[in-house]
Amino acid sequence: MTDNHNLYRLFEARMVSDPARSAFASSAGTVTTYGELGQKVARMANALAAAGVKPGDRVTVQVEKSLPNAVLYLACLKAGAVFNPLNSGYTAAELDYFLGDAEPSLLVCQKSSLTLLQPIAETRQIAATLLLEPDGSGSLTDLAAKQSGEHQTAMCGRDDLASLIYTSGTTGRSKGAMITHGNLVSNTEALCATWRITGDDILLHALPIFHVHGLFVALNTMLAQGAKILWLAKFDHEQVIRLLPEATVMMGVPTFYTRLLSAPAFGRETCRTMRLFVSGSAPLLAETHTEFKSRAGHAILERYGMTETGMITSNPYAFEGRLAGTVGHPLPGITVRLADTEGKVLGAGEIGVIEVKGPNVFKGYWRNPEKTKAEFRGDGYFITGDLGMIEPDGRVSIVGRAKDLIITGGLNVYPKEIEDELNEFPGVAEAAVVGIPHPDFGEGVIAVLAKAPGADGGRIPAEGQIIKQLEGRLAKFKCPKRVFIVDELPRNAMGKVQKAELRATYAATFKS
Ligand code: AMP
Repeated sequence: MTDNHNLYRLFEARMVSDPARSAFASSAGTVTTYGELGQKVARMANALAAAGVKPGDRVTVQVEKSLPNAVLYLACLKAGAVFNPLNSGYTAAELDYFLGDAEPSLLVCQKSSLTLLQPIAETRQIAATLLLEPDGSGSLTDLAAKQSGEHQTAMCGRDDLASLIYTSGTTGRSKGAMITHGNLVSNTEALCATWRITGDDILLHALPIFHVHGLFVALNTMLAQGAKILWLAKFDHEQVIRLLPEATVMMGVPTFYTRLLSAPAFGRETCRTMRLFVSGSAPLLAETHTEFKSRAGHAILERYGMTETGMITSNPYAFEGRLAGTVGHPLPGITVRLADTEGKVLGAGEIGVIEVKGPNVFKGYWRNPEKTKAEFRGDGYFITGDLGMIEPDGRVSIVGRAKDLIITGGLNVYPKEIEDELNEFPGVAEAAVVGIPHPDFGEGVIAVLAKAPGADGGRIPAEGQIIKQLEGRLAKFKCPKRVFIVDELPRNAMGKVQKAELRATYAATFKS
């Protein structure tokens, strides 16, 4: 065993042992072998050095998903630099904050965003800015083309930073999560074992790569095993339906699955070569799980994780073990417990905040020791902020985010319990329940229902009828006082419902 804990060593082993194997195939059919990938990454790693990037330096990247973007991620690992990807949807004020906070020595962006980014890069005194376009052209590519294809992979300890990822920050400022090589290596190994990933796998990759799911879960597991990746720039259900019969694994957010189910062309035949569909990043509705099973003949395997921890739990691989509504057991080497807000550990069957410990847990928030201290217990457990329950057999279920817990008239209401009921009503695609200021109760419960697509959406009963029916099934204090119907719920790029936005939209509902 080597002392070098650089994650890239796992991928490099495949590049050396099996250079002719396919690593990436584009939707147009262009294939990059592991050997060619190794060469591209080495050139890019040398280009980083030529641009002045040293080990430990941050490289901030705001470009569309493309193969060169993935090569850049791998080159940062290889060079011991810290990959800092940014979602392309950020505003000038947010970008100014990220660049000021991360202090990268190199910014990589597209020509189209230069007008926005250049003044910020100048104020923030970023030493170098290079361009990388989705088609692979740009000054970074030009620089890489001039470099040698030989590069010595940087020595890294387990604790050295591999990536800095800003959390989605649904409340307050986003924080930079410091993710180490040790975090990524351990999570990659745990997931490969749990999901039985091998070099024979072919992954359909349609997730973005500025986020833990598409970047670490999907890419790292496949590259570590020498598997093939069918690379899509984004999720397009027609393209996915066309390519699924060439794949064995797909990883997605719940909206991928609901979109597939609403396409009449999708069915068992589409999934004939598939062995695994994984879902995560947001809750998968039990009805999506059930419908997918009957239409596609596959039980979607749901897992749970977050930026700060990588993956924490997974449903078991065995088909009959993949249950709707639970996120399964902790991955090997990871321990999970529930606690109340003061940190008192709770027993099985109680609802509490999920706390997690293991080699997957990040090193802390970038330049924010106070926040880091506040989010860890004295014995090293990280406080996820998710509310959950642990069954006596160790299975974890997520009830919602602690900050989405509603306290009405002093009583706790867990939105998921009400959402599950509302999702059963005809015409409802998905329900979101939030608490908003109420003059008597502190918070009042409201429900926002997204209509099912097409004519089905017209079947939602009237507000009064919904409330009346719920009152027969739930304690009165849990029942929504108002029900709103919308075409779509607000979601972020990972398909998560933006409850803070709903709270803001409906904030004045109970104001007289
Ligand atoms: P992010 O850091 O953007 O990956 O978001 C992490 C958060 O997504 C977690 O803290 C959970 O609130 C949520 N999440 C991830 N996976 C699941 C899941 N399978 N079910 C419910 N919520 C999930």
